[in-house]
Amino acid sequence: MNNSVAKTYNRKNVSFSHGKGVYLYTTNGDTYMDLAAGIAVNILGHSNEKLVEALKAQAEKLWHVSNLYNIEEQQKLAEKLTSSSFADKVFFCNSGAEAVECTIKAARRYHFTKGNTEKNKIITFKGSFHGRTLGTIAAANNSSHLEGFGLPLEGFVNIERNNVNELRSSIDDNIAAILIEPIQGEGGINTFTKNFIGEVNDIAKKNDILILFDEVQCGMGRTGRLFAHEWFGVNPDVMALAKGLGGGFPIGACLMTDAVANALGPGTHGSTFGGNPLASSVGNCVMDIVNNNSFLADVEEKGKIFNTKLNKLKDGSNLISEIRGLGLMIGIQFSIDSSIVANKLFEKKLLTVGAGDNVIRLLPPLNITESEIDAVIDILKITLKEIQTNG
Ligand SMILES: *Cc1c(COP(=O)(O)O)cnc(C)c1O
Repeated sequence: MNNSVAKTYNRKNVSFSHGKGVYLYTTNGDTYMDLAAGIAVNILGHSNEKLVEALKAQAEKLWHVSNLYNIEEQQKLAEKLTSSSFADKVFFCNSGAEAVECTIKAARRYHFTKGNTEKNKIITFKGSFHGRTLGTIAAANNSSHLEGFGLPLEGFVNIERNNVNELRSSIDDNIAAILIEPIQGEGGINTFTKNFIGEVNDIAKKNDILILFDEVQCGMGRTGRLFAHEWFGVNPDVMALAKGLGGGFPIGACLMTDAVANALGPGTHGSTFGGNPLASSVGNCVMDIVNNNSFLADVEEKGKIFNTKLNKLKDGSNLISEIRGLGLMIGIQFSIDSSIVANKLFEKKLLTVGAGDNVIRLLPPLNITESEIDAVIDILKITLKEIQTNG
């Protein structure tokens, strides 16, 4: 396609005209199964009727007003997020990177207002992804994302995941916070251990260090709990959300305890679009559907079914080395180049997302059905067999 769009993405040559549920339809009549879901964004599938209705109803009333005024829909969404989490306050923005930026700024500002101006370093972990702003690429410390963009922002200490000794030896008086992506998405569906998160919590509490969770990808019901950290039994002080929160409408959120939020007074932080009426209305509708025990139990159950079937595939094939993940955040690690498999799956009209560690991610809409899961398994089975016999 002749193209004026910047080439920051290696795009597949396919254009979708519409979608419904887990299916996407191309301009030339092909049907794809979408297990990428816009990278964990379309958590209720494409063209969800309730979301469409919420967006349309709001569009006819009011699109945007400044955060200089009360925004009722935004207040409602903040209320829903705080009443179902550790948090007391929410700052709204438009994307994951902005939400993580807010966690970093909030943590530093918290210590600043306590007079600890030198307590501003943040521990981060190898394999994490936090976005593409100058702050978040410095935080994640992925060399391929930093290359060519000048001096990385200072103040991050990047260590191994799940390494208690390295964590302990990295603690000093200047550590303000520990930033964790509880299940690393881009990094290859790498899960922090419950034991390690418990250690993080102990160390943080003893040293007045804040815990920041980046749940941009693993939050919003993806793992079968509203928030992934519920599995670890540890609450953060600040949490970043985005991706699934708007079900496809751009919105991000930074959830904070009062102790942290009090450090972000008027004029300290802001966003023109953050939590505007359109985004908030859709967010409210997403929360109403996802923050429901039977919906979440269903996600957990379907995650188990998917996992069992994938493990059966793994046992019957030497191409798969590991099945990873929690709930419907699934990683398949291959013993051959995973991009070869991803390309074959694409030819068979199954959309997946690559990740680090030679992993292919399956991030279906959370309302995928069992028969749709079976259809995915069938495509995987046929594809593996073809690769096995033809190379
Ligand atoms: C996608 C992602 C981000 C960045 O979100 P954007 O909306 O692309 O800025 C941050 N953290 C995690 C864990 C993500 O998966």
